[in-house]
Amino acid sequence: MHGKTLILTLAAIAMAAHGEAKTFSGAAALDYTRRAVELGPRPDGSAAIVKLRAIIKGELSKTGAPVTSDAFTGATPDGPVAMENIIARFPGTSGRAIAITGHYDTKKLAGFVGANDGGSSTGVLLEMAAALAGTARKDDVYIVFFDGEEAVRQWTATDSLYGSRHLAEKWSADGTNLKLKALINIDMIGDKDLHLVYESQSAASLRKLVWEVAGSLGFGDAFRFRDGPVDDDHVPFLNAGVRALDLIDFDYGPNNAYWHTKEDTMDKLSARSLETIGTVLMKVIEELERQK
Ligand SMILES: [Zn+2]
Repeated sequence: MHGKTLILTLAAIAMAAHGEAKTFSGAAALDYTRRAVELGPRPDGSAAIVKLRAIIKGELSKTGAPVTSDAFTGATPDGPVAMENIIARFPGTSGRAIAITGHYDTKKLAGFVGANDGGSSTGVLLEMAAALAGTARKDDVYIVFFDGEEAVRQWTATDSLYGSRHLAEKWSADGTNLKLKALINIDMIGDKDLHLVYESQSAASLRKLVWEVAGSLGFGDAFRFRDGPVDDDHVPFLNAGVRALDLIDFDYGPNNAYWHTKEDTMDKLSARSLETIGTVLMKVIEELERQK
């Protein structure tokens, strides 16, 4: 018995040393999402978003990855607001990098808890970090939690995407954008009835790769080819010359009726949808690491 246990333990160590990733769990991603949503509305300037930042940093610290804070002041129509992107880096050896991103703030609306819009991206990113922990990487993998995605008032070029605009500029200045093979942003990916937009501004080669991986894993029903433009946190990176993609399901409830309403609650989400996204992204990271 002891001998067998030892062999199994050594096999587990050998697997970890070779960078075998843990499986992404949709149930765990849903639990992380619920923890965020239970804080209530999480717009910038709220006590709840301060608590969520502490939860995100606490969970990321368990992965052993270096975590950095990109704090800045958002110039909003309602005046200056303290904002903070949170970034975990799983280090590789190639000098190249891959970023998986999403937002954790919620739209400032009375009673709006953003289970899908703000919550689902937070949950998937936390579970991705847990799944990436302890594996040897070829490329650096960044897991990025954007603040300030939502408009404080009406969506305009200057009242939206505060966090991604800030980081795209910072990463242009420090050279990180040049290292990126790809940046994939996720938003509103928890809907039980998951149907992603074949987002038309996104880098075509990256979109093709992700859709092919999804199809090969049997997720073609969620990854359809309905084309359309969606402005989201990938756009500042596209503008900075990064090969970027947005994964968003912008058909949430009948005629998108749950979007930015009190109907955006946990009961509309499923672990299966979160697991679909996480499983595809883990495989896409592997495929990207094989590319030059
Ligand atoms: Zn939103």
